[in-house]
Amino acid sequence: PVRVRFCPSPTGNPHVGLVRTALFNWAFARHHGGTLVFRIEDTDAARDSEESYAQLLDAMRWLGFDWDEGPEIGGPHAPYRQSERMDLYADVAAKLLDAGHAYRCYCTAEELEERREAARKAGRPSGYDGTCRTLTAEQIAAHEAEGRASIVRFRMPDEPITFTDLVRGELTFTPDNVPDYGIVRANGAPLYTLVNPVDDALMEITHVLRGEDLLSSTPRQIALYRALAEIGVGGGLVPAFGHLPYVMGEGNKKLSKRDPQSSLNLYRERGFLPEGLLNYLSLLGWSLSADRDVFSLEEMVAAFDISGVNANPARFDLKKAEAINADHIRQLDVKTFIEACGPWLQAPHAPWSPDRFDAAAFEALAPLAQTRLTVLSDITANVDFLFLDEPVEDEASWTKAMKPGADALLATARAKIAEISEAGWQAEPLKEAVLAAGEEHGLKLGKAQAPVRVAVTGRTVGLPLFESLEVLGRERTLARIDAALA
Ligand code: GLU
Repeated sequence: PVRVRFCPSPTGNPHVGLVRTALFNWAFARHHGGTLVFRIEDTDAARDSEESYAQLLDAMRWLGFDWDEGPEIGGPHAPYRQSERMDLYADVAAKLLDAGHAYRCYCTAEELEERREAARKAGRPSGYDGTCRTLTAEQIAAHEAEGRASIVRFRMPDEPITFTDLVRGELTFTPDNVPDYGIVRANGAPLYTLVNPVDDALMEITHVLRGEDLLSSTPRQIALYRALAEIGVGGGLVPAFGHLPYVMGEGNKKLSKRDPQSSLNLYRERGFLPEGLLNYLSLLGWSLSADRDVFSLEEMVAAFDISGVNANPARFDLKKAEAINADHIRQLDVKTFIEACGPWLQAPHAPWSPDRFDAAAFEALAPLAQTRLTVLSDITANVDFLFLDEPVEDEASWTKAMKPGADALLATARAKIAEISEAGWQAEPLKEAVLAAGEEHGLKLGKAQAPVRVAVTGRTVGLPLFESLEVLGRERTLARIDAALA
């Protein structure tokens, strides 16, 4: 049975790289009818925070991911927060030491640096040189007597490590490139290098899908899984690995966590739909088919195949993400769309006072808005003219639309519009009125409606004008044109 894990460290805000990793693991688990384990890698007290942990959980819920084992739901390998599993790691480290798979290393930071420097100068590999690999009992006793601190270091095998990456094919790492590495700090704190594979082994993880940035730790981890199997920690499995391609941002540089475009919160605050964002993120390394960029999560799950992931770096393209999100917005049924707009029709997003909001007016225009929005947050500016006492004052729009002659046009349009009765107040006659006013001034409809739009909505762009006026009503429409003419 397939068992995959999503195991972020709770540092900082969730970012898109993390979300893509979660998505690919989730889709892989669901495609294979397997298990998704959600594990929190919070053994670094200096960097991890409760706030970030809460954000991670909130993000996973918002995205709509479900997990089979992990925080809030537990499971057979609980607890799923590594900070609650410290005794276990100490126990495994002791076993690795006993079995000779690890040893105590007494080298000080200065000694290590000095030898690294010398190796670099001599053109030799500059990783750990194995000084403490073969200490005799006397040497150890001497170091201890001296009161030297020691870390626990894992003993890498002397043979190359070869594995078949699910994305990249067969890879081989020679011992030169993978020196012995620390797994427990001098103060007894276990490192990521230990706790991550130990939990994979204990939780019987079958496939590790993670970012390419972790590729260099894979040979070390494979050696450690093998050692764990030998000493009977976990189910004896060495998981298969698939490394997801780098995501490149602006200027062909790796998208970094600090890049504003990589913050998940940005997408939430702008009103991306989770399914729109996930659809886009799935394209960072994968595709459903050559001719279809827009699809549902169900379709992704049904088709997801890790061997179809492309090893080449993926390009992050915000415009494309928006276009895909717009498609997902259009695909909602109107009722769902109206509900999804909810948060953006209230404080702090909405600038109008809550008692001014008129659900019927909003719902009348919602279908027109739905086909035009890229992100849900844009809804506010599209309908604010309905609920504000006066339209927003946007100087740029005003200057653009109120060119010389606009007043005369507006006055004619006002007169023609005023001829429409309350009972006949509908988009079609409104359009005829503005069209006729334009003709008198030698203007096409597009040019003629611009000043009307700015007078009534405050903006040069927005929803179809005549439907907007119909919903706004006769009295308010005329009053606004009058105000603009005054
Ligand atoms: N906690 C690690 C990270 O956040 C997980 C790495 C892995 O997937 O093995 O990068």
